[in-house]
Amino acid sequence: MNSGNYDVIIIGGGIMGSSTAYHLMKADKRMKVIVIERDFSYEKASTALSMVNARIQFSLKENVEISQYAFKVLENFEEEMAVDGVKPAIFYRKEGNLFLYDEKSEASARKAFNMQKELGCAVEWWSPEKIKEKYPIYTNLEGIVAGTFGSEDGHFDAYSVLMGYKAKAKSLGAEFIQDEVVELITDKGAIQKNSAEDASSQSLNQTETNNIRKIIGTQSSIQGVKTASGQIFYSSSVVNCAGAWAAEVAATAGIKIPVAPVKRQVFAVEPEFKLTYPLPLTILPSGFYFRTETGGLLLLGKSLPEDPTGFDFSWEQERFELLWGELYEFAPVFESLKLVKGWAGLYAMSLLDANAIIGEWSELKGFYLANGFSGHGLQQGPAVGRYIAELITKVDHALDLSIFSPERVLLNKPIFEDGIV
Ligand SMILES: Cc1cc2nc3c(=O)[nH]c(=O)nc-3n(C[C@H](O)[C@H](O)[C@H](O)COP(=O)(O)OP(=O)(O)OC[C@H]3O[C@@H](n4cnc5c(N)ncnc54)[C@H](O)[C@@H]3O)c2cc1C
Repeated sequence: MNSGNYDVIIIGGGIMGSSTAYHLMKADKRMKVIVIERDFSYEKASTALSMVNARIQFSLKENVEISQYAFKVLENFEEEMAVDGVKPAIFYRKEGNLFLYDEKSEASARKAFNMQKELGCAVEWWSPEKIKEKYPIYTNLEGIVAGTFGSEDGHFDAYSVLMGYKAKAKSLGAEFIQDEVVELITDKGAIQKNSAEDASSQSLNQTETNNIRKIIGTQSSIQGVKTASGQIFYSSSVVNCAGAWAAEVAATAGIKIPVAPVKRQVFAVEPEFKLTYPLPLTILPSGFYFRTETGGLLLLGKSLPEDPTGFDFSWEQERFELLWGELYEFAPVFESLKLVKGWAGLYAMSLLDANAIIGEWSELKGFYLANGFSGHGLQQGPAVGRYIAELITKVDHALDLSIFSPERVLLNKPIFEDGIV
């Protein structure tokens, strides 16, 4: 069944897909853009399951600039996304991020801090004494030699931001349909099944990549997508915004991208000690993090090497025991608390370097990736959506994100970011 020709097909309607659709329509209202999203409840989408933090505290200049742009967008988001006078309420709260460092991490933190200052970021270098003065309940700073505080870092309502982009994109003419993309259609036709299975396996090495190149050739072009309901949509531009499922989608064209679903868990607790002020997102050198949430709650979490790879959304309450210990050792006022709820979500983990993979896949003309955002993609939604729209409409980039090009996957050249949480 032919369901039409489009200028751009977007696979996945999370923050990346919806922001991309908005930016395309903003660039040219005459464009025919369709977003194909498997589940509009967004129950499993990372966008709906994140810690919703935005920060300029990264070590890679481009990641900092992406967040600087996000801050600007968030400031004006409610106005910009108004549809017929109805504005989304995104509750953007600049409660700050406080990264803490031990001797081992201090030097790289200082380097990143200097770069952030040069870019004009609101970030301060704090001594342990200053940390205690600002947050007197952080009494155990053993091993902590410094901290950096980003006063404009903060959090917001991710679902409202998602709905804001979606509603605005629709008002400008984008279509959103619920269906699942099951196959990318290329001018080389469908690939053999075993090639797709090869391509969806987790690890990447150069020989395998070369084999995949041989299968699809080097001059392929995308032609469209086929969906689970049997519809076929045609376009010479298809954007993969499928989040943790991105590698599965790419594999249907024999393309292997190093993106894997990795489970992360969040815990919400109600401490007996009642805080009279918000706490910043506080990140210990071990990677353990926590912040205050509305309703007198604290949210906490930690990425662990044993976090499983796969589409596993089970929430393991036992994991909380580990985290609780770290919390009350650091701030003993939190010794007494009640675990209220929690959830598990997936990082679309970029196995090459935990950084985004953004741009056209050079071996399949017209196939764009916005994938692999690991634990910091929500704040990258505005800049990435704009960048992909600029690539497709062939206009100059407001922000050069070519460092994240998928070419580095083919060349096996990782880029490094110290601020991965
Ligand atoms: C616990 C946790 C905490 C996090 N904390 C932060 C944070 O504090 N700050 C931050 O910036 N980021 C954070 N992140 C990361 C952030 O949530 C993600 O990087 C971001 O939401 C990715 O957006 P996305 O649109 O790429 O993916 P998603 O939001 O997952 O959207 C992808 C969509 O594609 C759809 N889809 C998949 N396959 C298909 C298909 N074949 N056909 C049609 N549709 C399909 C899915 O249904 C889904 O809705 C966190 C993530 C987790 C899990």
